[in-house]
Amino acid sequence: MQRNLLLVDDETNIQSAMRRTLKRDGYTIYCADNGSDALKMLLNHKIHVIVSDQRMPGMTGSELFGEVSQRFPETIRIVLSGYADFSAVSDAINRGAIYKFLTKPWDDSLLRGHVLEAFQRYELSWRNRQLTEIFNSTMEGIMITDQAGIIQAVNPAFTAITGYSKKEALGRTPRLLRSRKEAPERYHEMWQNLSAQGLWQGELWNRRKNGEDYPQWMSISALPNDEGEQGQYVALFIDISEQKEREACIEYQAYHDALTALPNRRLFQDRLEQALVQAERNACSLAVLFVDLDRFKVINDSLGHDMGDQLLQAAAKRLNDTVRQEDTVARIGGDEFTVLLPSIKKRPAVEKIADKIVSAFRRPFEIAGQTLHLSSSIGIAVFPGDGETPERLMKNADSAMYCAKTAGRNDYRFYSQSMNTDAKRRLILENDLHEALAGNELIPFYQVQQDAQRGVVSGMEVLLRWHHPQHGAIMPSDFISLAEENGLIIPIGSWVLEQACAQAKSWLDIGYGDFTVAVNLSARQLQQPGLLKVVQHALDTTGLPARNLELEITENLLLNDTERNIALLHRLHDLGIRLALDDFGTGYSSLSYLKKFPFDVLKIDQSFVRGLPDNQDDVALVDAIITMGHKLGMKVIAEGVETSGQLTLLRRLACDLVQGYFISLPLPAMEVEKLFKP
Ligand code: C2E
Ligand code: CA
Ligand code: CA
Repeated sequence: MQRNLLLVDDETNIQSAMRRTLKRDGYTIYCADNGSDALKMLLNHKIHVIVSDQRMPGMTGSELFGEVSQRFPETIRIVLSGYADFSAVSDAINRGAIYKFLTKPWDDSLLRGHVLEAFQRYELSWRNRQLTEIFNSTMEGIMITDQAGIIQAVNPAFTAITGYSKKEALGRTPRLLRSRKEAPERYHEMWQNLSAQGLWQGELWNRRKNGEDYPQWMSISALPNDEGEQGQYVALFIDISEQKEREACIEYQAYHDALTALPNRRLFQDRLEQALVQAERNACSLAVLFVDLDRFKVINDSLGHDMGDQLLQAAAKRLNDTVRQEDTVARIGGDEFTVLLPSIKKRPAVEKIADKIVSAFRRPFEIAGQTLHLSSSIGIAVFPGDGETPERLMKNADSAMYCAKTAGRNDYRFYSQSMNTDAKRRLILENDLHEALAGNELIPFYQVQQDAQRGVVSGMEVLLRWHHPQHGAIMPSDFISLAEENGLIIPIGSWVLEQACAQAKSWLDIGYGDFTVAVNLSARQLQQPGLLKVVQHALDTTGLPARNLELEITENLLLNDTERNIALLHRLHDLGIRLALDDFGTGYSSLSYLKKFPFDVLKIDQSFVRGLPDNQDDVALVDAIITMGHKLGMKVIAEGVETSGQLTLLRRLACDLVQGYFISLPLPAMEVEKLFKP
């Protein structure tokens, strides 16, 4: 720090003598001949110490210092004058306007000592002012107590943080700020540390005047008194509630899924790990459920991601509402959820929950004014039987889920050992399916649809077979859903359509009578933008009349995005193609809903036919479906007819068409030809 000194004397030789003496101490020295010049100097320079003569023309030293003490109170003021002047300045000394009175003539070393001391005094008070400034302006709350813990000083930040004014805090003890969130032992520990080491720091909950608890980071140090004992305590603290919130938020984000606010995979695995430890200790079971939403991808692709997101949120909520508080539901991927049932007694208990979830998803969702239908496939792995580690349990639940999916969706499956081999096989198949089409491994089979009353062939349903070079014949149930998922169903579907049309055309040309060829359409194909063109192209290139082509569409496929589907089916129908509603009875259809679609044929699902002729409920249902179909102007076909009893009853119930192993198996084209000739 530079030291600036101002010397004021009307006698120039005294000025320069002083200057000579004091220069040795390295000050920056300014000089003035009279009081008013000195005041100007003070205005223009930061002067720390002034040494002034008393008797000067115009303004005396004490008059000057009276002025200086008002305007520049920090400047240290020394009068250097004849002893005779002392009485003239004593009044000013008493008022505090003068710090020291030194007499002329002076002793060099004494003068130097006094001036040096004046500078030290200046610097001390400057430092004090700085500390006060820091005390008042710092963001940290500061609280100083005496040895007994009585608050002696607090700063404005203290008030800002705690809400207590200085007046309210002084004289009280820090108990004023105690929060009930903090255990009494904590304070005990704090005092022990303080008395042993003179220091404590850490996080502490405090309470504001308004009753709000908040976390703070605090450091308390003991200041020794002049006897070397702990005399005062200084506590510095900052409010860390915002920082805590940020940390909590980051932690939350790390363990939760942003879209649904459900736990994410990480948190699920943590909880599963903990639950496994518990289960092992208590020798009880736990279950992991892998829940996958069926056809979610189709909805997401066709209705847009916004709707998809909303649907996921609604699905997450529904899933969460189905289970108990102590169960964990997590979202671990796009449309994949997991459920942890941490303590279960018996398998039926898990079945009950899985049932509840499956039926919860059967209820349609209302999203942005649209009714959406979703279903779920669930795989279940149970500890200890199906795995001992989180990874194994989740993997096995996943395999079980895949089995539930391939087995027709909308259901649950418990894990079994054989599923892993199934999963592996699936993976192999998925790779091979890419080659299948190009390698001529796919073969259309044909299954006869017979006129129930007259007993003649009225149509053929095309059912795809895959002749795998290593695995032999593979059924559609093992590869159609695969093809739907990876999109291969689009080229495969178009190819089947062309094959079927070409085959039917050649049969027509040979003169096998009038019949329809029925081709199955999958969900993905319906979503395909160019479907109409693909169908038109198949008809054009093969020359098959449109009225000889029938498209079978599963009821479930139509439920979402209804308006678009109604329009699409009408356009197909307008081409002259016949439309059949496949698997009728397994979905959610109502009569009013069916009326909107231009279906020509209603196909009663095999599951109803299976119960014929003995199961009276099924008889009543099939009867009702046939009557209803006829009322709506549709032909009705029963699929899965396996016995003569079924056939007889269906005839009696006035079913129009029948299809099933009892009439004919699905066969290659070569063999089916024979059936045309009675
Ligand atoms: P779907 O359309 O319901 O086809 C009827 C299924 O029932 C066929 O199984 C058929 O072989 C079988 N079936 C026929 N008669 C009987 C019977 O009397 N008893 C029993 N238990 N079953 C009978 P498949 O061929 O395994 O086909 C399964 C599903 O795969 C079909 O169900 C259809 O949804 C799908 N699929 C087959 N081929 C194609 C195709 O070319 N394209 C598309 N998109 N899907 C296809
Ligand atoms: Ca079908
Ligand atoms: Ca069917």
